[in-house]
Amino acid sequence: MIDKHRMTEHAMDLIRIDSLSRMEKEVALKLESEMKDLRAECFYDEAWEKVGGNVGNLIVRMEGNKRSAPPLLLSAHMDTVGPGEGIKPRVENGIMKSDGTTILGSDDKSGLAVIVEVMRTLKEKNLPHGDIEVAFTICEEVGLLGAKHIDIKKFKAKQGIVLDSSTPARLVLRCPSAAKMEFLVHGLEAHAGLCPENGISAIEIASRAIAQMKLGRIDDITTANIGIIEGGRATNIVPNLVRVVGEARSHSEEQLESQVSHMRGCFHDTVSKYEVTLHDDLSVDGVTYTARLDEKIERSYDRMDVPLTSTPARLVTDAVKNLGYSITPHTSGGGCDANYFNRMGVECVNLGTGMYELHTVNEYLVLEEFYRAAEIVLEAVRLNTVNGG
Ligand SMILES: [Zn+2]
Repeated sequence: MIDKHRMTEHAMDLIRIDSLSRMEKEVALKLESEMKDLRAECFYDEAWEKVGGNVGNLIVRMEGNKRSAPPLLLSAHMDTVGPGEGIKPRVENGIMKSDGTTILGSDDKSGLAVIVEVMRTLKEKNLPHGDIEVAFTICEEVGLLGAKHIDIKKFKAKQGIVLDSSTPARLVLRCPSAAKMEFLVHGLEAHAGLCPENGISAIEIASRAIAQMKLGRIDDITTANIGIIEGGRATNIVPNLVRVVGEARSHSEEQLESQVSHMRGCFHDTVSKYEVTLHDDLSVDGVTYTARLDEKIERSYDRMDVPLTSTPARLVTDAVKNLGYSITPHTSGGGCDANYFNRMGVECVNLGTGMYELHTVNEYLVLEEFYRAAEIVLEAVRLNTVNGG
């Protein structure tokens, strides 16, 4: 029922508009005008102020023609990672990809295109549906910030579908909690050739701390990573400052907490072992300098765990069954906007749109799966109308 050609062209049009995180305005304006063509109500929330971007989340309501059907939320994010400027999408043998110098940006322009196509189809074919509410979010790629600051009171829907995952053969029901950790190791500067014993090397401390750490895949449901190390100024200076940034994720709060405290412990223990006493002419006992640690531990987002028996999961799985496809529940290692929506009381699942090798220049979109995602959402809207109405 969907118009595959139009959907593909639309996705490419959206992809050609640059929209790095905090710079989503141009894409938002295009979507807004497309939504207004469908006589949907559009407005922006204030999230842009909180994230320092050029536009807020675009919130849309398309009134239903079947008032008894419960409102349904659909959502995809407007921002992309880099390299994402001047993207030139092309289609070959049913696959969309970039020219190899940038990402494709099907993450998540494919999700935007699925939502718009479903809404256009509902309107054009005059299909029965309840209110469709849409959250076109900003800044998903920089920590789900658009969803974090969304004005959730604007929505009536209590259930929804996020379109921001790999394949529509999987339905993401569980995503982890994540914590971000920043450590500043303070040592003591000294000339590395003349008097290294007068210094405390922050690089040495940081590397010993990290060397003791359990990192990578910790267990079935927990991961950890040190992603950034910065520090040092010259080879002839004992470095006095190193900045280390890492993260941990888990589907269990207890395991997340224990991993974070393990990583903090490695730094605290190591830092506590370093001190140096310097003597000068005036003091007999000398002055003792100790290494020091500043740390900032932040919760990035909270986990989601939506039961397979929940309304949105059943809408999707029943839709898939009706269309003759198959789908399996999936536990993801990454967070998505649905993490926040679920916390805010809108129960949401995350359906894939056919995008692969995300966040790389090899990113590609499998068109057959892209169309399938739209068919699934359209059928889920129908079921929501029949069941709820
Ligand atoms: Zn995404």
